[in-house]
Amino acid sequence: MLFRQLYDATSSTYSYLLADPVTREAVLIDPVFERHQRDAALLRELGLKLLCTLDTHCHADHVTGAWLMHEALGSRIGLAAVYGAANVDLPLCHGDTLKVGGFALEVRATPGHTDGCLSFVTTDRGWVFTGDALLVRGAGRTDFQQGDPHRLFRSIREQLFSLPDACAVYPGHDYEGRTSSTIGEEKAWNPRIGNDAREEDFVGYMQNLGLPHPKQLAIAVPANLRAGLPESGQAPSLPSWGPVAATYAGFWEIASEWVRLHLDRVQVLDVRSAAEFEGELGHVPGARLIPLDELRARVAELKNDKPIVVVCQTGKRSALATVILRQAGLEQVANLAGGMVRWRELE
Ligand code: FE
Repeated sequence: MLFRQLYDATSSTYSYLLADPVTREAVLIDPVFERHQRDAALLRELGLKLLCTLDTHCHADHVTGAWLMHEALGSRIGLAAVYGAANVDLPLCHGDTLKVGGFALEVRATPGHTDGCLSFVTTDRGWVFTGDALLVRGAGRTDFQQGDPHRLFRSIREQLFSLPDACAVYPGHDYEGRTSSTIGEEKAWNPRIGNDAREEDFVGYMQNLGLPHPKQLAIAVPANLRAGLPESGQAPSLPSWGPVAATYAGFWEIASEWVRLHLDRVQVLDVRSAAEFEGELGHVPGARLIPLDELRARVAELKNDKPIVVVCQTGKRSALATVILRQAGLEQVANLAGGMVRWRELE
């Protein structure tokens, strides 16, 4: 199984990409709205086909990226049926099995943090994605959104601690940089429910956490009951001047094929040395030369009247140049994918 653990630093949320390396089919657990471009870029770069997104529950601290993925890639949207949320086309129930290429996930109801919390277990019982039911050395709070510490106690004991001790635990959040645990480890060391804690111990602990309400609660819950569809009904706008796409590395890129056909709509900035500009690979017709090591000092020479496509030999120095231009306040900027090498290949 191909596996990636992704992180949103704003909400301390983990998202998980699981894929079959042969069929390239993939599932994304708990995507975050604001991390959509990053996650979509990773799927594209790894050549994966996203079958569905799965949310472990209706989150109160961030908005799901499920609807954005559905819009961009046609993936189905999975969430517990209990919530009755809009735009969900995979309403999930305890005991369901989701097949993804050569592996499958079993759906287990683990309510208590909310009444629709689900955990996803690989059918070999080697991995469990626990959402906010069981955290590394913790458990999801139970003081709002139908939370119930008695239910959470039973969910963890019956549905999670019944898994093999070696089963790897991947939580929905962590605030201390801990990435994973195992069922055996949490049975022994979880300070709320480990080491044979009794129900009264757990409930007493959970009822006295005294946490502030999540800042996003009033926004996130209604948005998540629409599977992350923005109130406007529209995805956040992308650059409209051309087919610009974000890379997983975080740069905005544009394809040579498009730029060749639309040279009149953009200004091309070449950031190689003067010798390279006049050298073997030549340069894009009409391109302006400002070598990368002079760019910060000369950025004021550039006008903002047309989008800037930046080029170098293979697209590395020009990627850094796009960052310099953005820092200087130029918004419509993209890196020419593959640089002059790719440009020449198309001739
Ligand atoms: Fe939560």
